[in-house]
Amino acid sequence: MSGEYKIAMLRGLRRHCPTCDSPTLFAGYLKVRPICPVCGADNGQYRVDDAASYFTVLLVGHLIVGPLIAFPALMALPLWLALLILLPLVAAVTLAALPYIKGTILGVLAAGAANRKAAP
Ligand SMILES: [Zn+2]
Repeated sequence: MSGEYKIAMLRGLRRHCPTCDSPTLFAGYLKVRPICPVCGADNGQYRVDDAASYFTVLLVGHLIVGPLIAFPALMALPLWLALLILLPLVAAVTLAALPYIKGTILGVLAAGAANRKAAP
């Protein structure tokens, strides 16, 4: 991975503008601010679509299923108790991770667009 991708990805992961690193990427929980008020970058052109949801489910699935397999005592819990613990946990981790993953994907898309513009 080239340096530009890594920098843009890390900026997006922090929910910052991939171009100028100002904390203005999102106008709300998941709504991307179309134009960065600091540098004028057109962040609204990058369509993250379902990629953020996909990678969030992938991450959360591994975070939840891995410990369930690694610790058989968790599998021995009654179903109602396991659901009582796991459903709020899954919801909380999913909702917490989603904007950061969306920012990361947007950073990758922004770096790719910048590379395409720079190419002869
Ligand atoms: Zn910016």
